[in-house]
Amino acid sequence: MLRVVPSFDRIGEENAFAVLARAGALAAQGRDIVNLGIGQPDFATPAHIVEAGIKALRDGHHGYTPAIGIPPLREAVARDLHRRHGVEVSPDAVMIVPGGKVTMFMAILMFGEPGAEILYPDPGFPIYRSMIAFTGATPVPVPIREANGFAFSAEETLSLITERTRLLIVNSPANPTGGVTPKAEIDALVQGLAAHPGIAVLSDEIYGSMTYDGEAHVSLLTYPEIRDRLIALDGASKTYAMTGWRLGWSVWPKPLYDAARKLAVNSFSCVNASTQWAGVAALDGPQDCVATMVAAFDQRRTLVVDGLNGLPNISCITPKGAFYAFPNIARTGWKAKALATALLDEAGVAVIGGPDFGVHGEGYLRLSYANSAENIARALERMNRFLSDHAPG
Ligand code: PLP
Repeated sequence: MLRVVPSFDRIGEENAFAVLARAGALAAQGRDIVNLGIGQPDFATPAHIVEAGIKALRDGHHGYTPAIGIPPLREAVARDLHRRHGVEVSPDAVMIVPGGKVTMFMAILMFGEPGAEILYPDPGFPIYRSMIAFTGATPVPVPIREANGFAFSAEETLSLITERTRLLIVNSPANPTGGVTPKAEIDALVQGLAAHPGIAVLSDEIYGSMTYDGEAHVSLLTYPEIRDRLIALDGASKTYAMTGWRLGWSVWPKPLYDAARKLAVNSFSCVNASTQWAGVAALDGPQDCVATMVAAFDQRRTLVVDGLNGLPNISCITPKGAFYAFPNIARTGWKAKALATALLDEAGVAVIGGPDFGVHGEGYLRLSYANSAENIARALERMNRFLSDHAPG
């Protein structure tokens, strides 16, 4: 009998991938499925970025690179952070990793152990909780509330800190809610953290380029008082429609950088070389491709929110960032996951049940509006028909 270590009983996963697989299987059987489940841009990676990746392969970039990433990419990341946030970041603090997820994996491994507590947003990206549980640390959910516009509350977050808290994870703009936390709230959080110098902060800013209605994304990198304990997570997946390339990066405080480098050496060695050169082209090249994509998401955001608010017993606040809507379905009488399953099986619409993002996600669905206006309209029309025809399950 093989004996896998018990921590694997505690590791979770991301149900969006299971829904993607199920939607694909149904489509393969000939069913017409509209997929608003998975969170990835429906755009192709911009051509100049693809060309840079191809050129790197043609130019012979076929070998290992430094585990921390090629210098031109680490320099490009530093320049990008300066351009977007006005912050000075040394390329020596930047680590190149295969996707946004890898930074959270490393950070949680560094601070999670039995007896430790790690605070994370709920509803939030499911891998936070999964990895915290895997390390044996106690996952402490910070409720993210609709009444607060799905921003996190500094006061509530600070109230959950104990002497066992080692790491605080924040995410704005947020998955799955589209919530953007305003500057005043982040100011209050940073101020409150002054009393807890032993707590590290992981700021997941992977949707930082996607905000709407003039709402600004405030990077935690702009607070010098926490830079010595801040891990800033970012990457190319969402901003440049590069989910399949596997390219992320993070900024680490000096004392943690070498630990992260060693994790890289012990696991993936380096991000594949051509992807890194594509990343240089993405960050140093024209940024109008990002603006065009965000403008398209903005239009679809209106379609999806207006459409959802027109459905029986559903209400949806307007998300200020990312490309997700998180409608409240409590008044339909359906449990969220049962409704998500019924919508896929019976109406051919893939969405994700809120509880897949944590216990505070009950009563909500997540819809990704990274899909065409036409598909969004079809999905809403099918949901309308389904909800009008079906009593709660
Ligand atoms: N962080 C958040 C909040 C996300 O929503 C995602 C992807 O959905 C990631 C990180 C991971 O991104 P990547 O695909 O680059 O690993």
